[in-house]
Amino acid sequence: MLADKYSAVRQQIRLACENAARSPDSVALLAVSKTRSADEVRELSHCGQRAFGENYLQEALDKIDALSGLDLEWHFIGPIQSNKTRPIAEHFDWVHSVDRLKIASRLSEQRPVQLPPLNICLQVNISDEASKSGCTPDELPALADAVARLPNLRLRGLMAIPKPEDNPQRQRAVFAQVRQLLEQLQHTQPALDTLSMGMSADTEAAILEGSTMVRVGTALFGPRNPPSTR
Ligand SMILES: *Cc1c(COP(=O)(O)O)cnc(C)c1O
Repeated sequence: MLADKYSAVRQQIRLACENAARSPDSVALLAVSKTRSADEVRELSHCGQRAFGENYLQEALDKIDALSGLDLEWHFIGPIQSNKTRPIAEHFDWVHSVDRLKIASRLSEQRPVQLPPLNICLQVNISDEASKSGCTPDELPALADAVARLPNLRLRGLMAIPKPEDNPQRQRAVFAQVRQLLEQLQHTQPALDTLSMGMSADTEAAILEGSTMVRVGTALFGPRNPPSTR
């Protein structure tokens, strides 16, 4: 079951890359495993998947602990409270949801010295005015400059969660704006290489607009049950 869905998602990514005239290995798949059991994560890892994304800290820490024998890469993609940064700095490889300097500074301070720098994407609030998450496009240049100076972080790029939209052209238009924001930052920070955008419903539009990492949950694992632990 999971193996079939996994090949279907991989195939969808390959086809979208072909349509975009991009190399199939230019887009990474982040499997979003929030609300999913450690056993489901293990099963998907046996299909070859290594990178997993989690939104709820306690649930994530339990899974990371249960699966510590596997060589997995953990990405935190949910909203971050400033009093919860330490376990994120200690247990994750990437954080996609940084939207203010206070959070970034704490993650840098709390990153254990024996670990490589924590990979960071800045979350930008591109179309969803109702959402409180993400910095505004105006705030982005100053935030990116400041975060890039923090010693134990490695700023990689941007993450966006556009508001749901059925029309593929309109999906693309919003993703194109995110790509342009990254291109502007790359003038002063050429090492930025990551556009974390595209979920189950808009994977292809995101890839056509330059996504380098799609975050896919439902298309891999099926519809979610409500989270039991946060
Ligand atoms: C849940 C979630 C996803 C995955 O969404 P699906 O529609 O299930 O693919 C991706 N990104 C973030 C930030 C999420 O919270």
